[in-house]
Amino acid sequence: MNKQTNKPAPFIGISRHRLATDGVGVTTLAAFWGCPLRCAYCLNPHSLSVDAKVQHYTPQELYDAVKIDNLYFAATGGGITFGGGEPCLYPDFIAKFREMCGAEWTITMETSLNVPFENIEKLVSVVDYWIVDCKDLNPETYEKYTKKSNLHTITNLKFLIEQGKSKKIRVRVPRIENYNTETDIETSVSTLHEMGLTDIEIFTYNITRKKNIRESKLMGDNNANRIKCV
Ligand code: SF4
Repeated sequence: MNKQTNKPAPFIGISRHRLATDGVGVTTLAAFWGCPLRCAYCLNPHSLSVDAKVQHYTPQELYDAVKIDNLYFAATGGGITFGGGEPCLYPDFIAKFREMCGAEWTITMETSLNVPFENIEKLVSVVDYWIVDCKDLNPETYEKYTKKSNLHTITNLKFLIEQGKSKKIRVRVPRIENYNTETDIETSVSTLHEMGLTDIEIFTYNITRKKNIRESKLMGDNNANRIKCV
């Protein structure tokens, strides 16, 4: 018997009809409020602010709000992507949501994996696909950039691999201006390969874009809140 409750969780935004940006097929991005990290170049400070304008949904309410795109999901193999903020802070919500949507929808997480191990234990059988922003694997660089240790991230990544999920994980390795170098990135990629991961994407944090987003927010552009952070 399932003991998950239908408790509400805070969201900073929902974005529909996303294609090839958050996993397979057509997806709806549901972005939770709240994150354990404090990245120096946080792309979504709205998800950290205690004054943020959030909307609360129960799993049932969120399902009712997003099921309008069920046909798109079914036709493309898509579904819902949970981002934020940090979606792995809400494992019970997501497990309950899976009960609502059934096995047909693809559930993707955009996450840093920097959450307690028990959260990932709860999610491992619920989630289909993981998009992990590992920042930099050097512990000192990671801590300098996020203000937090990367121990949870490494432990949880290894756990997912042990559970046979390596083909369901994409790891994103960012170039972080003023924090890591090309050599650091090569070291991170090489370590990830040694762990058995093959889907690795190097990308660059766009600091200029971040500035643009901030300016856009000041001008009242609500679309600025729809930026994914991981
Ligand atoms: S993980 Fe994302 S939301 Fe959290 S601090 Fe870093 S950029 Fe911001």
